[in-house]
Amino acid sequence: MSELLELNGLRKSFGSNLVLDEISLKFPQGSATVIIGASGSGKSTLMRCINLLEELSDGQILLEGEDISQYGINLDSVRGKIGSVFQAFNLFPHLTVLENITLAPRLVLKKSKEEANQQALALLKRFGLEDKADAYPNLLSGGQQQRVAILRAIATEPKVLLLDEVTSALDPVLIAEVLSLISELKADGITMIISTHEMGFAKRIADRVIFLSGGRINESGTPQEIFENAQSAELKGFLSALHDAGRL
Ligand code: ADP
Ligand code: MG
Repeated sequence: MSELLELNGLRKSFGSNLVLDEISLKFPQGSATVIIGASGSGKSTLMRCINLLEELSDGQILLEGEDISQYGINLDSVRGKIGSVFQAFNLFPHLTVLENITLAPRLVLKKSKEEANQQALALLKRFGLEDKADAYPNLLSGGQQQRVAILRAIATEPKVLLLDEVTSALDPVLIAEVLSLISELKADGITMIISTHEMGFAKRIADRVIFLSGGRINESGTPQEIFENAQSAELKGFLSALHDAGRL
């Protein structure tokens, strides 16, 4: 049986800077993988490679067995299958919440306006945001904006959801509401790849934690293995720095 998503020997350099080296990973359907590592360790670059925002220097990305990293692939079609949310500035400021969420379903999936609206409103209702449907993003709190951004990312029913530090620009109170939405999506069985500084959340949600260091997968394991039983000097150093900063 093929995995939902598979990275084979992925490498990425910027000029002479080798940022990702020999990354091979399998992501089973419905799994939540949390990627941790120091700032600059390549977490965002890895996510950007997966949704084809960066060209690979070497290696292969398979989505449902199809090589999506091959030359000539239809980028729009692939990106419809991979939802992404980044740290900030995700929503289109000139579109309402409803228009933001329905844009891709209408343009990419060719849904009718009525159908797209109906689905978007159902999503907003489920997560307590239905009264924001006609608001513009700048009238929403940061937490509400990120929740809408995540709903927009899942509105195309992607195979994989990439969440890159989606709470790092938020106040603690707002962080909780975004994390709780992500937990619900995990319960729905959406396959997720998450990078986060919220280690408590990482422990709770992750089926597997990947620690990146020096461009490589330094350690990977269950949250318990990574957080309670670190093996490498690099991971021990990373965790103790988090601990000293009061973040673990
Ligand atoms: P993280 O998300 O873990 O903080 P990044 O993936 O953003 O790390 O960055 C990893 C490394 O790649 C850093 O050294 C960064 O400077 C470099 N990098 C990222 N994007 C670019 C780019 N577009 N051009 C050149 N270097 C880049
Ligand atoms: Mg980053």
